Amino acid sequence: MTYVVTDNCIKCKYMDCVEVCPVDCFYEGENMLVIHPDECIDCGVCEPECPAEAIKPDTEPSLETWLKLNADYARSWPNITQKKDAPSDAKDWDGVAGKLEAHFSASPGTGD
Ligand code: SF4
Ligand code: SF4
Repeated sequence: MTYVVTDNCIKCKYMDCVEVCPVDCFYEGENMLVIHPDECIDCGVCEPECPAEAIKPDTEPSLETWLKLNADYARSWPNITQKKDAPSDAKDWDGVAGKLEAHFSASPGTGD
């Protein structure tokens, strides 16, 4: 089991999650974060910290796409352990549907 970052992180990227992870298993893309499934110890402390409610346990149904996306990009994006400023328009994107199709960026972030 692992936790995964899902659609609503895209363009919200508040980054409260990285501060609480005991094993530093978040990786930064240009406009979202992902969790490395082999490093996550399933502690669950990040889930309630996410203001966008974007972090889910992979035991929830229909998360296969997100599990694969987290696993794939955790291999190439840089590690991030410290919170940065959220995008200035993060609130405008919170809850917008279909962000994966319209707004996902495969580009890496800058990491720590
Ligand atoms: S707190 Fe939530 S929205 Fe912010 S970066 Fe983490 S997963 Fe994404
Ligand atoms: S569940 Fe725990 S180990 Fe996994 S990403 Fe969240 S804080 Fe880190």
